[in-house]
Amino acid sequence: MSSILVFCSVQDHRIKRSSLEAMSRARHVAHENGVPIEAVILGSDASALVSEAAQYGASCVYTISNPLLDAHLNAPVISALDAVLKQVQPRMLVAASTEAVKDVLGALAVRSNAAVLPDVASFEWSGDTVSCQRPVMAAKKMAATSTHHPLVFVSVRSGSYEATEAPADGQEVAVPFEFDTASLGITLREIVSQAGDTVDLSEARVVVAAGRGVRDDAGRQLVQELADITGAAIGASRAVVETGLFPATAQIGQTGKVVSPDLYFAVGISGAVQHTAGMANSRIIVAINKDPDAPIFDVATYGLVGDCFTILPLLNAALREALA
Ligand SMILES: Cc1cc2nc3c(=O)[nH]c(=O)nc-3n(C[C@H](O)[C@H](O)[C@H](O)COP(=O)(O)OP(=O)(O)OC[C@H]3O[C@@H](n4cnc5c(N)ncnc54)[C@H](O)[C@@H]3O)c2cc1C
Repeated sequence: MSSILVFCSVQDHRIKRSSLEAMSRARHVAHENGVPIEAVILGSDASALVSEAAQYGASCVYTISNPLLDAHLNAPVISALDAVLKQVQPRMLVAASTEAVKDVLGALAVRSNAAVLPDVASFEWSGDTVSCQRPVMAAKKMAATSTHHPLVFVSVRSGSYEATEAPADGQEVAVPFEFDTASLGITLREIVSQAGDTVDLSEARVVVAAGRGVRDDAGRQLVQELADITGAAIGASRAVVETGLFPATAQIGQTGKVVSPDLYFAVGISGAVQHTAGMANSRIIVAINKDPDAPIFDVATYGLVGDCFTILPLLNAALREALA
């Protein structure tokens, strides 16, 4: 019987939250179509994460425990997923739309002759049709796309679904895997991670994002303080990335990262569509802006109209006290 196979992305010895969200949706779709939900985990941690995948509904978890798959090299990952697909022959492969997944999905689809529905906000499967909705034109419009292809890959935008537990057996099946490293042609020498105790932006539950209104080092420090108090990751608009006040890795939006935290602070950000394309899925949005007509207030849950250099010290002090 065909199944829905979910590719679980791993970070810091855990399955990424966005993968668990994709798995939760895949579980519902699998139930509706009377097929099992299965998972695939790659990397040296693979076996240790089987129980976490089972907690979210995987009846069977295919693992390839090979440290080569930790190294962010596309060729071994494509080869490993291809091996699992050949063994499992699922109806669909569902994954979170992470940077690494975006890197491999097209090549994997060519190799396995699959149709791809990338970066979707929702998906369904009914009869012989898999359909989805994808944000297009800086998320101003949703495009409906469908396919009848017998094998479909779907990558799901983070925050599109809630991650919900539904414990299942989670029987581990170790898949044999061989890869000739001589064929790689490149060597990974070092993974340079961001210095300090920073929270990963795309997985963060709270994000504090700064825009041009934050202006300078003093503003950046106020933003950092709010992030420290709330345990947030720091994001930024393109305007302050271009001035060099924040790193390019912090950019949120159409040409930056897509985030979907529970709580998003937009500080001194106007709310251009290219920015909101990357954060409008956030559950609660608190906007601080001195212009009452700033478009960010159209998507905000709470709006604080005023100068962020006045508001942030007050907010930081109040939150520090409340959370003490
Ligand atoms: C193809 C393309 C792709 C793009 N991709 C992205 C993207 O991925 N991400 C992105 O962010 N942008 C992107 N942009 C740029 C985008 O169009 C906007 O220019 C950018 O988001 C504006 O950033 P901002 O809101 O920080 O700055 P501004 O538009 O200059 O807004 C600053 C805001 O701060 C407020 N403000 C000023 N001083 C204070 C103060 N003291 N206290 C409180 N509020 C204050 C102002 O009222 C204003 O609303 C893209 C543009 C293009 C053309």
